[in-house]
Amino acid sequence: MKIKMTTPLVEMDGDEMTRIIWKLIKDIIILPNIDLKSEYYDLGLENREKTGDQVTKDAAEANKKYGVAVKCATITPNADRVKEYSLTKMWPSPNGTIRAILDGTVFRTPILVKGLVPYVPNWRKPITIARHAYGDIYKNSEMTVPAGSKAELVVTAPDGTETRQLIHDFKGNGIVQGVHNTDESIGNFAASCFEFALYKKEDLWFAAKDTISKKYDHRFKDIFNEIYEDAYRAKFEKAGITFFYTLIDDAVARAVRSEGGFIWACKNYDGDVFSDLIATAYGSLAMMTSVLVSPSGACEYEAAHGTVQRHYYKYLKGEKTSTNSVATIFAWSGALRKRGELDGNSELVSFADRLESATLGTIEEGEMTKDLYLVSTLENKKALGTEEFLEAIAGRLAQS
Ligand code: NAP
Ligand code: MG
Repeated sequence: MKIKMTTPLVEMDGDEMTRIIWKLIKDIIILPNIDLKSEYYDLGLENREKTGDQVTKDAAEANKKYGVAVKCATITPNADRVKEYSLTKMWPSPNGTIRAILDGTVFRTPILVKGLVPYVPNWRKPITIARHAYGDIYKNSEMTVPAGSKAELVVTAPDGTETRQLIHDFKGNGIVQGVHNTDESIGNFAASCFEFALYKKEDLWFAAKDTISKKYDHRFKDIFNEIYEDAYRAKFEKAGITFFYTLIDDAVARAVRSEGGFIWACKNYDGDVFSDLIATAYGSLAMMTSVLVSPSGACEYEAAHGTVQRHYYKYLKGEKTSTNSVATIFAWSGALRKRGELDGNSELVSFADRLESATLGTIEEGEMTKDLYLVSTLENKKALGTEEFLEAIAGRLAQS
């Protein structure tokens, strides 16, 4: 008997090798077990071109409406892609479009498995990075400054009054940069982090540099603290988890000494740096999941890697591929679990748990794709092809 669903899952298909994997996961693992109720959006580049990218916006609106989506990796077009796909426009990144509509924060978590040893040996549990995705140096205004110039910060109020502050009197040549953020964006970021920490039942850290940046970073710290005190302290205490603020350099030292198992909220640039550090230190980008959480709690689950273009061209030539599908499988299990929890559908939740165990169990028994085979410390290991690996998981799942 297949598991029934009551509310549709928003399904966003994508491009290249991950699109091939998407169909395999559905055919081999999902559809034989679940009476899948999904609202399907084809975010493959050809369909984005055909619909003038309307499909991406519709998918994001559906995500808002139903609350849970699962997304395949998609191509963000550059000049090469415009030629390759004869595009009429260099369509924007779908992830950017969806993030703007949901106003969410991205949480990235490594998937830990026996045989894949983190570079920091005491990291026994995953560290999740939450990156604020708006403002700071990513929306800056900067100039080179010739010798003898004076740089000032000028803010013009609605009534026209100007407030000026000296930045620097330049004796020699130099540089200057202006950055901003908004209370609203920081507040949404904080709310998404608190919501996600409660969902995962993990401690939340937020770190910045308020001792040096007494207005800018301090505002981040104050907003996190205000929202925590107003809306989350009681919930955190009840859940037995903690929130704390610390300086970014202290956070780095604590993180390295920790055993993992917490969520680390980062300002935009810090998040850019630390998500790559965490992905690398835990061993593999193919073993990293990503979920976009809106301040109201709507979620979009995906893999952190791209469309694995090089493997796709091999696949098109009929060559054997061994592409790791774990992060995409975990995107499905994460979305199905969340859907199950929202609908009170315990069978769906338990399916998600069993699917994750079967996936990890397969790897821990020595059956894995080539990328993991090359780094795994297991002794009896075997490299499987893309489809064989999914068949092995399905076999294990059927026995669980
Ligand atoms: P990528 O698809 O992540 O692949 C980079 C390399 O990492 C691959 O060539 C492969 O190495 C390895 N790799 C990544 N995922 C793997 C997996 N699941 N299994 C095995 N190996 C894996 O990044 P990219 O080549 O820079 O980008 C390709 C396209 O993806 C671009 O068009 C980009 O716009 C898009 N992209 C989309 C997203 C998203 O939708 N979230 C994110 C990033 C990039 P080897 O070739 O050495 O085996
Ligand atoms: Mg980066």
